[in-house]
Amino acid sequence: MGSTPNSFGLVLDAPGVRGRPVTALTKDGSSLTEFMQSTIFNRQELKEPFYVLDLGVVMSLYEKWTQSLPMVKPFYAVKCNPEPALLGALASLGSNFDCASQAEIEAVLSLGVSPDRIVYANPCKAESHIKYAASVGVNLTTFDSREELDKIRNWHPKCDLLLRIKPLDDGGARCPLGPKYGALPEEIAPLLQAAQAAQLNVTGVSFHIGSGATNSRAYHGAISAAKTVFDTAAELGLPKLHILNIGGGFTADPQFDVAASAVKAAIQTHFSNEPGLTIISEPGRFFAESVFTLATNVIGKRVRGDLREYWINDGVYGSMNCILYDHATITCMPLACTSNRANAICKGLRTHNSTVFGPTCDALDTVLTGQQLPELQLSDWLVFPNMGAYTAAAGSSFNGFNTAAIFYHLVYSNPN
Ligand SMILES: *Cc1c(COP(=O)(O)O)cnc(C)c1O
Repeated sequence: MGSTPNSFGLVLDAPGVRGRPVTALTKDGSSLTEFMQSTIFNRQELKEPFYVLDLGVVMSLYEKWTQSLPMVKPFYAVKCNPEPALLGALASLGSNFDCASQAEIEAVLSLGVSPDRIVYANPCKAESHIKYAASVGVNLTTFDSREELDKIRNWHPKCDLLLRIKPLDDGGARCPLGPKYGALPEEIAPLLQAAQAAQLNVTGVSFHIGSGATNSRAYHGAISAAKTVFDTAAELGLPKLHILNIGGGFTADPQFDVAASAVKAAIQTHFSNEPGLTIISEPGRFFAESVFTLATNVIGKRVRGDLREYWINDGVYGSMNCILYDHATITCMPLACTSNRANAICKGLRTHNSTVFGPTCDALDTVLTGQQLPELQLSDWLVFPNMGAYTAAAGSSFNGFNTAAIFYHLVYSNPN
């Protein structure tokens, strides 16, 4: 994917990146592994887990987005992974941001991003956070209830509003959001009228088909429903709506092309006669998932017959909380088994049925079972790819294992 050398410069100079070492990787796929091997070799006394963030992949994904959906402005959903280098890189590439709280808004503003590049896309906000948004000039938010309109009228009456609607099809999502958010069809007219009566500016519609969607058809239904809201608003005499926010739900795999086609077709069908329309989206997983790789150290081992049980120094209360909250399926592979196979990636070795436990004293803290892994020794490393979405962001410090303390190395694989 050809990013311009220019955007490399921008990313390397981005806030959150600037001043931190960034290692260039060569093109062949083994180099991330080599980077991690040299990292553990150079820091042999350090056995703490670490992340590697590949800024080259961030750039490729951004380019992929702009090529596939040029008419849709991305607002990266900060909750997915707020690592400052990722936020800074995305900001430098031109992304906008979806924030859900005061702290997320602060994090984005501290990068030098202007407040008009933020959508405060939490339909139910604390009053103090609304006041803060008003004070810093974040002037676009979402709502799905009268009570939210009351708060906004009191604390931020000039804010532009997107009516969040509930898509009727959750797209087979791993994490459906419909049970919690989104106005029902019969609530739409009353909410628009309530906003009108309160002299608030409804400027558009938003939805989220659910995170980790597998069925792109859901975008059709949701975009069609959004169009109905535009029509209802016009019938009620509201100023013309002009923002369509299609939310998140995208994954950075071949499914993305299917989803992008579905979005484009649905926009063509339902919104081709809406001049002046701004279309925005709030991708989280799409930008964050594949760009982070996690390396963990084997800190314990037990042998029971042919079963091998390992303890590693990150787990379900840390980065792997995604197994519980994000219904994620994760995979791991051994990295340069330091014990006896200096350079190998442990390929071609006999494998054993293995269990991988996290470090806390809770049996729930089980990362993987039924894995075929070669025999590992204490101090070997297990690597988990695709660990950027809803991982470290939601980890705790339970039992004294502090997810927030995990170190991040920055690399860029050259996408040219
Ligand atoms: C979580 C969330 C997102 C990001 O969703 P992904 O599935 O990660 O793309 C976007 N918008 C809102 C309102 C969210 O709550």
